[in-house]
Amino acid sequence: MFKDRDLRKLCEDSFENVKRDMENLKVKHTDQQKEIDQLKEKLLNLYGILTDVQAQNADPVATPEPKQERKSKDFVVSMKSGKVHQRECFFARKIDPRHRLLFDAKIDAVNEGYAVCNACA
Ligand SMILES: [Zn+2]
Repeated sequence: MFKDRDLRKLCEDSFENVKRDMENLKVKHTDQQKEIDQLKEKLLNLYGILTDVQAQNADPVATPEPKQERKSKDFVVSMKSGKVHQRECFFARKIDPRHRLLFDAKIDAVNEGYAVCNACA
């Protein structure tokens, strides 16, 4: 069995160990806190850059005029296959002009009973 003196020594040693561990953890924590602060700063910088880029891009994209030009007759139906294609579709270009119908909107062609092309839908 431990004598009183041994026990006290053991307690003191343990206490010292715990104290040292806590000091180490404190240092570690301070380091991590510094790292977090640095990352926060970086993030804020990036957010600032992002906001600038968004502000620069916002105006030109917002003008809707070119879209209106493209809107007319953008869809092509083949009366032979019964399919409706986007005008740029590979198959749309193959349609014989005699079998070709043009539509402003895909939904208009679908409402008339034409099926949507699998390649360009
Ligand atoms: Zn197609």
